[in-house]
This record gives sequence, structure tokens and C-alpha cells, in this order.
Amino acid sequence: MPDLACKLLVIGAGPGGYACAIRAGQLGLDTIIVEADRDGGTCLNVGCIPSKALIHAANEFARLGTFAGSAPIGISLSEPRIDFARTSAWVGSVVDRLSRGVTGLLKKAGVRALKGEARFRDGKTVVVRTAEGEQRVRAENIVIATGSEAAALPALPFGGDIISSTEALALTEIPKRMVVVGGGYIGLEIGTAFAKLGSTVTVLEAASRILPQWDHALTGPVMHRLEALGVKVMTSATAVGWSGSALGVESRDGRQEIAADKVLVAVGRRPRMRTAGLADLHLTMLGDFIRIDERCRTSMRGVYAVGDITGEPMLAHRAIAQGEMVAELLAGRSREWDKVAIPAICFTDPEIVSVGISPDDAKARGIEVTVADFPFRANGRALTTEREDGFVRVVAEAGDGLLLGVQAVGEGVSELSAAFTLALEMGARLEDIAATVHAHPTRSEAFQEACLRGLGLPLHI
Ligand code: FAD
Ligand code: NAD
Repeated sequence: MPDLACKLLVIGAGPGGYACAIRAGQLGLDTIIVEADRDGGTCLNVGCIPSKALIHAANEFARLGTFAGSAPIGISLSEPRIDFARTSAWVGSVVDRLSRGVTGLLKKAGVRALKGEARFRDGKTVVVRTAEGEQRVRAENIVIATGSEAAALPALPFGGDIISSTEALALTEIPKRMVVVGGGYIGLEIGTAFAKLGSTVTVLEAASRILPQWDHALTGPVMHRLEALGVKVMTSATAVGWSGSALGVESRDGRQEIAADKVLVAVGRRPRMRTAGLADLHLTMLGDFIRIDERCRTSMRGVYAVGDITGEPMLAHRAIAQGEMVAELLAGRSREWDKVAIPAICFTDPEIVSVGISPDDAKARGIEVTVADFPFRANGRALTTEREDGFVRVVAEAGDGLLLGVQAVGEGVSELSAAFTLALEMGARLEDIAATVHAHPTRSEAFQEACLRGLGLPLHI
């Protein structure tokens, strides 16, 4: 096959890679994107999207279950049933639609797409193993967007009933007993969904509490709900081996065996470095990840990296923002990474949102702050929707009230993350949010009320 040449070659069509290629195409850059698998990457095919679809189905099923018998709201139903193979097919159809959508967007932007595994020859040349044979591509600039993969535990290698999130999200039967190793984002999102679908779920967490990156106040309502759902949470616990039907666990209570049909290992993700001959490029690393500067440049001229391969936070919206920025830089625009905050959301029950710094972060950095919260039990909308657990909390600079962080836990708070992030990006102060008219009755009023409280002017508490 004759060699191809382009201004920009993007390796990987996940959120980081496809966003970069689409924007580059729109800006008139001659762009090629290479993807070994389906367009959309981890997020769209085996991550964000199928997990949120599964969570939605599980929530609907569990909610209907609360109406079996007599519910305080006055609605009653007979016991709901679920045909999980159909649920799974529906999840797949959502994924298919979005993946095809990404393919279409790339085409619309004039991006040339190659299917196959890319491998670096040198910093300007890549060979792609396509179905038709090897295709050499020469590029002025290359963006590495190869993402991440599930980390395995030596005592529990993946295979058979020891599964990662990818296999957990592709199950067509609800396992009777599921043990989740790792009480982080993935373990709790997927573990909670299966508990709502009827699995008996046990979560093992090595740290002394679940979601250890967030403070007690934020994780408390999640822990409470897990208990209500019958999920057994074992903290300071480690899995030591698998007999084929039971998991050996060591914890403060000594050693025990926990019978399981599936064991979901969700102990973090690691950069996909073994692909594309990345190691042979000898790029400067930051731990296991590729080191980048504020323009996503690696240590090699003309080679950029975006997304999970560049480290924490490994979130799709960060990858997208990085990809977009690199495309604009290559089109000659003046850009650098200047984001004030990247929102983090855990789609547990209830959801947790964190933007900017927490009270603990402020303390660790020696910043004097005002902290104020507003509980959903004092919010009209929360009461009308029967979920009054949780709160919104603001962290502002003492003195001038500049917002430095906003955290929330509660049903549906994921949708408040945009307001929180916007406030931080716009440099809002407590008084700006307090003086903004918030529609009633909405959960967003809790944000305004937390700011009012921070100013010593609470209205509804
Ligand atoms: P990826 O999405 O991993 O894409 C990399 C792509 O590169 C892949 O398609 C891969 O096939 C391709 N590739 C790799 N090597 C080669 C090669 N040599 N040649 C060609 N192609 C190659 N994030 C959120 O923000 N919100 C969520 O709700 C969320 N939920 C998640 C749930 C789960 C279960 C998981 C696993 C992750 C979740 N994430 C979530 C994280 C999110 O998926 C990642 O942050 C995001 O996908 C990273 O994008 P990326 O472009 O860096 O890499
Ligand atoms: P995580 O870092 O969120 O959680 C891993 C958990 O496993 C931690 O609590 C850790 O203490 C625990 N752990 C580590 N080793 C252990 C062991 N041997 N035994 C028991 N527990 C152990 O990682 P994850 O849940 O695998 O998710 C990976 C990444 O994917 C996240 O960091 C995030 O970037 C991304 N993600 C994001 C979302 C979202 O945005 N809603 C959802 C899923 C995944």
C-alpha cells in the first residue's frame, strides 16, 4: 500500500482522540485517526455509557420494586420482573448508536479513519496493521490517545468468573452472588446496580473506608444506602485467592471464604502503554503515565498525549477538553491548559459530585476557608421527590468569599455539576451565587442556600 501522509495522526478514537480529530478536521487540518477497536473508546463502549445505562435500568427496576405492596405515595404494583438479556441488549443498542455517531462525526469533519492497530516506527512514522495489510503513515504531529485498561491483581488474574468492568457490563444474566474487589468508582457504581437487580453483593475495600478519595461527610449517605440495599461492605479487607467458587479474604476478622458466582475486580486502571510500541519511544514518564506539559506536549517534539494515558484524573471530559485543546494549538491558536476545575462525579446512590477543593484539601494547603452546607432535607424539591438525603457544601476563601470548591451528595446532583464548575470557572464569590435567582422548587436552590449560609444569611434553615 502506498504511504499516507498527514498533518495530524491521532492514535485511539476514545474521547481524547476522537474529540481531537473532530476539532482538527473542523479547523481544516489534514487528519487521520487510527482505532484498533470500535470508535468511542473505553468510555463509550465499555465504560461511562454502558455503566450509566445499566445503572438507569437497575434504578428503574428497584424503584418499581418499592411500589410492590403498599407505598406511602399511594401507588401499588405487583412485583416487577426483569428480562436481563433484553436489558443487556438495550444497553448494547445505546452503545451502538453512540459509537456510530462518533464515526459519523469524524466523517463529517473530513477526518480519514483507519481501522487497525498502530505501532510507532519513529516519532513521525506509524505503521497500522489493517485488515488489508500494513499501512505506513507519516505525520507532522502525532497525538497519543491510547487510554487505559483495568489493573489486575496478582492473586486474582482475569479470566473465567474473575471479571473486569468490561465483562461485568456485558453480562446477560444477573449473578446470584457477586463479590466486588475495590470500593471505588467502578466497584460501587456497578456493585450497586447489581444489588438493585437482585444480586447478593459484597464489596471488599483495602482502605479503611469506601471511596477513600472523598471525605466521610460525602460518602456517609452512600454507605447508608448500601446498607439499606443489603450490600455487605468489608473495609481493610484484601482478596487472597480464588478456589473456583469462593474468594479467600483477609480482614481484621481473620481469614474467611466468600462464595461467589462472579468476582468483579475494580482496583484502578493503568495506562495502555504496552500498545503502539510506546515504550520504545522513551518518552519522559510521570510514574506509569506519559508526562505532558500545559499544552499536552510530551518530551518528543511533535508528539502529544491526551486522556487517561497522561494520568489522573482519568475522566472522559478531561480527555475531551485536552483533545480539543491540542487540535486548536495545531491549527495555530493560542491555547494552554487553564481550567480552574474538572468536575468528578461518582454515579453511586446517591450521587457524589466534587469540583475544586474540599475542606480537607484547604486544610492540607493551609488555605483559610469558610465552609457552609445546606441539607436536602430542608429543600422542597427533595421532599417532593422522596429523596432528602445529602447536601450541597461550598468552600470559599475566608475574607473575600471566592468559591474554591463545591461538593454535593444526593439524588440527581450530577446535573448540578455544571453550575458548580461554571461558578468556579467564572470566579464567582458566595455573594454572586447568593444573589442569583434560583428557580423554585429545584435542588439547585441548595447551592444558593449553602452560599447564603456561608455569608451568615441562611433563609430556609
Ligand atoms: P480510551 O477511551 O481508553 O480510548 C483509547 C482508545 O485507543 C481505545 O478505543 C483503544 O482501542 C485505542 N487504542 C489503544 N491502542 C491503540 C493502538 N495501538 N492502535 C489503535 N488504537 C488503539 N469517565 C467519566 O468521565 N465518567 C464516567 O461516568 C466514567 N465511567 C466509567 C466507567 C467505567 C466502567 C470505566 C472503565 C471508565 C469510566 N470512565 C468514566 C473513564 C473514561 O472511560 C476514561 O476516562 C476515558 O475513556 C478516557 O478516554 P481516552 O480517550 O483517554 O482513552
Ligand atoms: P478507583 O481508584 O476509583 O477505586 C479503586 C479502589 O480499589 C480504591 O478504593 C482502592 O483503595 C481499592 N483497592 C486497591 N487495591 C485493592 C485491593 N487489592 N483490594 C481491595 N481494594 C483495593 O478505581 P476504579 O473504580 O477501578 O476506577 C478506575 C478509574 O476509572 C477511576 O479512577 C476513574 O478515573 C474512572 N471512572 C470514573 C467514573 C466516573 O467518572 N463516574 C466511573 C468509573 C470509572
